[in-house]
Amino acid sequence: MNALTEAAFSPARQREVVDALRAVLPAGSVLFDAEDTRPYECDGLAAFRQLPMVVALPASEDQVVAALKVCRDLKVPIVPRGAGTGLSGGAMPIAEGVVLSTAKLSRILKMDPYSRTAIVQPGVRNLAISEAANVHKLYYAPDPSSQIACTIGGNVAENSGGVHCLKYGLTVHNVLKIRMVTIEGEVVELGGEALDAPGLDLLAAFIGSEGMLGVVTEVTVRLIPKPQQARVIMASFDDVVKGGNAVANIIAAGIIPAGLEMMDKTSSRMVEPFVHAGYDTDAEAILLCESDGLPDEVDEEIERMTEVFRASGATAIAVSTNEAERLKFWSGRKNAFPAAGRISPDYYCMDGTIPRKNLARVLLAIAEMEKKYGLRCANVFHAGDGNLHPLILFDANTPGEFHRAEQFGAEILEFCVEMGGTITGEHGVGMEKINSMCVQFSRAELDAFLALKSAFDPLSLLNPDKAIPTLRRCAEYGRMHVRAGKLPFADLPRF
Ligand SMILES: Cc1cc2nc3c(=O)[nH]c(=O)nc-3n(C[C@H](O)[C@H](O)[C@H](O)COP(=O)(O)OP(=O)(O)OC[C@H]3O[C@@H](n4cnc5c(N)ncnc54)[C@H](O)[C@@H]3O)c2cc1C
Repeated sequence: MNALTEAAFSPARQREVVDALRAVLPAGSVLFDAEDTRPYECDGLAAFRQLPMVVALPASEDQVVAALKVCRDLKVPIVPRGAGTGLSGGAMPIAEGVVLSTAKLSRILKMDPYSRTAIVQPGVRNLAISEAANVHKLYYAPDPSSQIACTIGGNVAENSGGVHCLKYGLTVHNVLKIRMVTIEGEVVELGGEALDAPGLDLLAAFIGSEGMLGVVTEVTVRLIPKPQQARVIMASFDDVVKGGNAVANIIAAGIIPAGLEMMDKTSSRMVEPFVHAGYDTDAEAILLCESDGLPDEVDEEIERMTEVFRASGATAIAVSTNEAERLKFWSGRKNAFPAAGRISPDYYCMDGTIPRKNLARVLLAIAEMEKKYGLRCANVFHAGDGNLHPLILFDANTPGEFHRAEQFGAEILEFCVEMGGTITGEHGVGMEKINSMCVQFSRAELDAFLALKSAFDPLSLLNPDKAIPTLRRCAEYGRMHVRAGKLPFADLPRF
């Protein structure tokens, strides 16, 4: 467990930064007493904490510009922050830095049902967009399980996904344009209202850049019509291999479900007493598979999905018959992370992606790792996207357990890479997976990432030391990317 550093900055430096920010921000928008900054000490990866030197709460784009100029002039590192639900430590503060919170930038600026777009400030919650669009029978498709709390600014920075992203795409596919402020205090627009914008596609480069290239101040999102009907199948399997293969079989049959999620037995047993969704707690794996569209289309697709599940060895199949039942089936999946608290004092949520055909193989390997590390792991994930979320259960008060959980998580990610996958699907790299970046990417690739960062932020003040590891860090981690059997920089000392 990371120790909390209370005051890693000098009081004189703190006073200098506070005075400069107070000169450009309204009263009450600059926090620096430990009791005020404490709520910002971590994000959803609560095992890592750091009290920030200062928290700034700008309420307009002009104030973001002014705050960034102050930080650039004083060379203070800045960590942008939305709701702090991130699971990779992306919004974790830097001891001698400023946390720039978007909490006060929470207005929906325009809702346009004709162009089916909404323009929102970055601190607007994901679910609030769909709630506001509901009057026009529209919604914003990417739906992270944290959507009740997480912000669109955080979603843009992480390229967040959710249950419906298999059919409707990730954040990157549903954001048309952003306004952002550079470290120089320049306001830049990326993307456009049409399907393409002139010049380099910097919008795609920015989405998923984890607060390292600029601060988002406005987002134009695409809205889509709410489907007339949606129904979900709940299929049970007596073996995770059969469940994993059923996922691949659905896609192979040419079906793109509106959502295709998997829960293993540990997960359904963890969740059922919490939500009473009617899950089959004896099944080794449960698949939730949704169809949406016009009622006739849905009926026909549900029939095809059912056939594939039967042929894949499903032991039980239930289909939602009304909206309340559909939401009940999903409630367990959506509440799986909080439900982990019922069976374990702490959990560590991993996020890796693999080609769907390897799902069963990776789940079996994780079961072996449970024995190796002496820790339980619940698997509940976006199966259709091959995006795993192993929840490693541990007790931080038992010496060594967190360390074992970290090693367990790193081994899962390395196995994902070995299977042709990646070390993150949607939660980002942050500080959590920075070592795993050394396994995934070659030095040349990491240098290209650093070059892009440096083009936007030459002094490396925006969320520094996150997401892109240095050469030294990779050497110290001792697991550098090996290509064609050759270890790069073999002369560097390894520890
Ligand atoms: C219970 C639970 C379930 C979750 N389920 C999902 C899921 O299904 N899918 C998924 O993708 N994620 C999921 N997450 C992770 C998390 O909710 C997402 O990553 C989300 O996008 C983070 O949004 P946030 O507003 O909380 O951002 P924060 O955690 O505050 O920040 C995340 C990153 O974005 C940067 N950032 C924030 N705002 C800005 C801005 N305006 N400009 C530039 N950079 C910015 C920060 O610096 C940081 O690097 C889950 C988290 C929890 C706790």
